[in-house]
Amino acid sequence: MQLVEIQAAPLEKLAQLLAPEAAERFMATAERARQLLAGRVVWNVNTTAHGGGVAEMLQALLAYGRGAGVDTRWAVIDGDPDFFAITKRLHNLLHGSPGDGGDLGAAEHAHYEEVLAKNLDELQRLVRPGDLVLLHDPQTAGLVDGVRTAGAHVIWRSHIGRDDGNSETERGWDFLGGYVERAHAFVFSRQRYVPTWLPPERVRLIAPSIDPFSTKNMVLDDDHVSRVLRRAGLIEDGDRIEAVEFTRRDGSPGFVRRHPDLLSGGGPPPRGAPLVVQVSRWDGLKDMPGVLGAFAQHVAPAEPEAHLMLVGPAVSAVSDDPEDAGVLAACSAVWAGLPEPVRRRCHLACIPMDDVDEDAVIVNAVQRHATVVVQKSLVEGFGLTVTEAMWKGRPVVASAVGGIQDQITDGEEGLLLPDPTDLEGLGDRILRVLGDPDLRERLGARAHERVRKDFLGDRHLIQYVDLFGDLVT
Ligand code: UDP
Repeated sequence: MQLVEIQAAPLEKLAQLLAPEAAERFMATAERARQLLAGRVVWNVNTTAHGGGVAEMLQALLAYGRGAGVDTRWAVIDGDPDFFAITKRLHNLLHGSPGDGGDLGAAEHAHYEEVLAKNLDELQRLVRPGDLVLLHDPQTAGLVDGVRTAGAHVIWRSHIGRDDGNSETERGWDFLGGYVERAHAFVFSRQRYVPTWLPPERVRLIAPSIDPFSTKNMVLDDDHVSRVLRRAGLIEDGDRIEAVEFTRRDGSPGFVRRHPDLLSGGGPPPRGAPLVVQVSRWDGLKDMPGVLGAFAQHVAPAEPEAHLMLVGPAVSAVSDDPEDAGVLAACSAVWAGLPEPVRRRCHLACIPMDDVDEDAVIVNAVQRHATVVVQKSLVEGFGLTVTEAMWKGRPVVASAVGGIQDQITDGEEGLLLPDPTDLEGLGDRILRVLGDPDLRERLGARAHERVRKDFLGDRHLIQYVDLFGDLVT
């Protein structure tokens, strides 16, 4: 197990972005938290300090917690490949997908418990009675009982879920149920993700949030966006640029270099071309090939200048999920089969994940440069890519699935696609947005406002403090 260092972030920085009443509520909650949690530690336990939505949220929220004067700490537990194969299986099952179809029997329970027992030993030495311990996702479920025995208040949070539970989700809960049931409270992103057997009085709904100051969301001016994209080879590169400088979250300097392993169709799009973008992992449920199909069949013929860019992480055959490599290969095959004039306007970009900040600034720049951002997910837990694009004032066209429905009201903060498999419907909505600058402006402005109101750290932290208040008083 390792402890992650957390730097305090000043609350005023976030407060200044909020509406005055929201800023006041946020600062008052910080004061309440300081008093309520004096003498207690708020622990967060997960399996990674970098990469992925949970780690990103913890980085921001725990820093604000420290800024508020609360003793927040972060422990990352250890596991071995067999442990992570079991927890990945559980992750897929809670999403309602069979994943690798592997067993979850006595042998898997035994290994899962054995790995967690070692972590629990260390955790029990650190946690004191009265502390609050937030355990994140299936990887930590087996710690609930032991942490409770140490006298702490235990909250188990699932960041995963599926609107319509099926036999796979049931299989996942069959494995996890016995581990989590003794938690004092449970947190889910949406009501529909809550298994019916959990006592409702112990369940809280808390949606995720984004940090406006992270490398992925910080403000970049137009020049900066162009430099980052030209450097990364994502828009047409006129004159050469040696380096693009930016400041990392910890204040150290960083730079963006050109990425050699970019897959692209006949050179990057010209700078002024209308650009349709989807940023996603190469996961079947994000349906990148469907976006390609909708663009090629329904958008490209009507908008001859428009380009499409599908952006995802670089997939290495050795270290990454084989599912992702398969989806990228399937996308490349669809791309290769497109007729030539359209193919040249469709781009698959793989951004290496070897430097978290560098990667994030490219994602930031791509989202800011997009004329329209698409999220054609077939299933979606929450959809942070949607929140990120909305915060950047982009018009979003997204499937009406999972947490996307909690972020966008159709026609208000974006356009929703009721049937996520409807290529023509997606194409029509993209064309509407591309053809109407007023609509783009209106959807983007409302989207930004919605995120400011509901999906930044202040709302998230206020909900946590309310929950802590219920547990400790
Ligand atoms: N992301 C990224 N690089 C990529 C693809 C995705 O940094 O190439 C980020 C994206 O910006 C977002 C997160 O990964 O912050 C994905 O979160 P989301 O909730 O959209 O989907 P998930 O991948 O968790 O299913």
